[in-house]
Amino acid sequence: MLFIDTHCHLFWNDFDHDLDDAIARAKAEGVTRIIVPGTNVETSMLAQGIAHRFEGVYFTAGVHPHDAKDLPVGIFARIEALAADPLCVAIGEIGLDYHYDFCPKEQQHEALRAQLALAKSLGLPVVLHNRESDEDLLDICREQQDGGLRGQFHCFSSSRDYAERVLDAGFHLSFTGNVTYKKSTLGDAVAVVPDGRLLVETDAPFMAPAPFRGTRNEPARIPLIAQRFAELRGQDLAHVAACTTANAVALFRLGEMRPGG
Ligand SMILES: [Zn+2]
Ligand SMILES: [Zn+2]
Repeated sequence: MLFIDTHCHLFWNDFDHDLDDAIARAKAEGVTRIIVPGTNVETSMLAQGIAHRFEGVYFTAGVHPHDAKDLPVGIFARIEALAADPLCVAIGEIGLDYHYDFCPKEQQHEALRAQLALAKSLGLPVVLHNRESDEDLLDICREQQDGGLRGQFHCFSSSRDYAERVLDAGFHLSFTGNVTYKKSTLGDAVAVVPDGRLLVETDAPFMAPAPFRGTRNEPARIPLIAQRFAELRGQDLAHVAACTTANAVALFRLGEMRPGG
């Protein structure tokens, strides 16, 4: 069985001491491909460096809502330049975060709109971050949806009703370790996603699945999350592995499916 960790922040210093080992452990568990999402220009460049060092590792470039305050002129041109790298598979992570007060809402909206437009102009999917911003995020994505916008609602943590509306708007849903927690209410949302729109991620170093909750997460934990998907969906693990992997390959055009090689 092969898996793809579609969202893993390998550049945070949590991985400084064992990055090589963490990637080797992931491969031993069948997690042969990993997407490392940037959160601003600097971390997108760090993610790019890791993607170039390890086989099967890709990156995304974008400005996270936490980093969207008082953006300098020309920043999206720098994101666009990073996105020209063939190992850059999406614009992200971008989105809205109303939990923390790191950036005024209007500036978050501006950065999101600019980067959705950039993704469409480049023909790349987006990686979307959502924290307590369900309605505004979906409204803005819908407003920008002209049939050419594709992407991943990462670390999905909302209701089944919201999951259905996100699917209707044309997006993929991605879940992480919080689906394994005892008090998780995400089962209905996990179950409602069709086979063709489901993705799996660790969001490492955060969100370690049970029984590792509270420890540093890493890509080798992907099968534990996929196993929970299998239980919630009434499918076997091999089926979950096959469809989540195929979905990630298609959405992010990984490897041989990338046009031009
Ligand atoms: Zn996020
Ligand atoms: Zn993230």
